[in-house]
Amino acid sequence: MSRTGNCFDPAANPGGMFTVTESIARILAQIAKPTQVEMVALSQAHNRVLAQDEVSSFNVPQHTNSAMDGYAICAEHLSSQESYTLTVVGQVFAGGAFNGTLAPDEAVEIMTGAALPAGADSIVIREAVERDVNQIAFSDAVKIGQHVRQKGEDIKAGSVALSAGCLIRPQEQGLLASLGKQQVGVFKQLSVAIFSTGDEVVAQGQPLPENCIYDTNRFTLTGLLQRMGCHVVDLGIIEDSQASMERVLSSAATQADMVISSGGVSMGKADYIKQALEAVGDIAFWRVAMRPGRPLAFGAVGDTPFFGLPGNPVAVMVTFLQFVQPTLRKMMGQLDWQPHKMSAIAQETIKSREGRIDYSRGVYRINDQGELVVRTTGAQGSGILTSMIQANCLIEIKEQYSEVEAGDRVLIQPFSDLL
Ligand code: AMP
Ligand code: MG
Repeated sequence: MSRTGNCFDPAANPGGMFTVTESIARILAQIAKPTQVEMVALSQAHNRVLAQDEVSSFNVPQHTNSAMDGYAICAEHLSSQESYTLTVVGQVFAGGAFNGTLAPDEAVEIMTGAALPAGADSIVIREAVERDVNQIAFSDAVKIGQHVRQKGEDIKAGSVALSAGCLIRPQEQGLLASLGKQQVGVFKQLSVAIFSTGDEVVAQGQPLPENCIYDTNRFTLTGLLQRMGCHVVDLGIIEDSQASMERVLSSAATQADMVISSGGVSMGKADYIKQALEAVGDIAFWRVAMRPGRPLAFGAVGDTPFFGLPGNPVAVMVTFLQFVQPTLRKMMGQLDWQPHKMSAIAQETIKSREGRIDYSRGVYRINDQGELVVRTTGAQGSGILTSMIQANCLIEIKEQYSEVEAGDRVLIQPFSDLL
């Protein structure tokens, strides 16, 4: 991470608060694209990002072939009739070939995936044909080229089949497989160190003392990071002390490509993340005009970017989605990533506050009129993690609105991307 620019200049943030959009822009401006490339087996390439363009040296498919089981015919030379009778002169299976050229009054029995015989241009499906020894009869009109897959219709020889910077999902894995790739060049897998803070936060497996809570955030963060294909370095729960936080921050930064903490960024007397980051690294900003998630520290320790997420479990997930996700995607090498957003009709009044962007947990669906509508999950406290379980999206209400009325359009961010 480069530390040029004004991201780390406190004067650039005089009011102490950035909008979400400004914050994302400032963060991304500090993040360099990856350079380290490694070869991985195609079967292991899921969720990695392609490091170079993949050019196909051949057509996919290699030969024009049949998309159905049936008969290959020369439709171009069939004169329009009530019904057709053709002589079956052979058979061709997938992987095989028919030797010879089809005449207009001939047909070749063909299986799905078999190369079209010379002279043939269309397929009549088996179900549409009456077969009598070596004759077929059919009466359906034939469209030239029907049920035929053209050579190179998926990928043309010499063309870029996949561009550098694309995320490898199952469909990209399949496409690379169709090019015969066994290995692909991808950007290095990211390693992300996480820790929780708070003297009241207890690890699973320990008894839960009164007034304490089990650690939620390391688990939501682990799941989110794993969904993004990152390796997680779990540093546990760190006590509320500046010295401990300085120690863990410094050591985490040497072990991982990014460090993420939760808790300890508010204004409370036990909130030490900001001071610890100032002591061992650089802090860029720590307040964003949003809810949930207003206290949010971003900075770096050495060259390692650091996010100090809020403590409340919903705020952790929301800030991860808005800030950490685009940052990781850039570090992974994914080009021009943007969150998916859709417009939906609010089914109820949703309160917000001017000057602050609100992310309510929402449930969207298609109503009886076929419209995309959305309601909230009810109480929106940033500690109510069940709201994330009921929800299938975040409802984004921008800074300029103090409220959305039933019937108004709102933007939603469906969870399907990552959750
Ligand atoms: P803080 O910003 O540290 O004051 O935390 C804000 C709220 O989030 C407090 O109620 C904390 O108890 C809670 N919290 C902080 N860390 C965690 C965690 N890892 N799991 C669950 N709740 C947490
Ligand atoms: Mg705390």
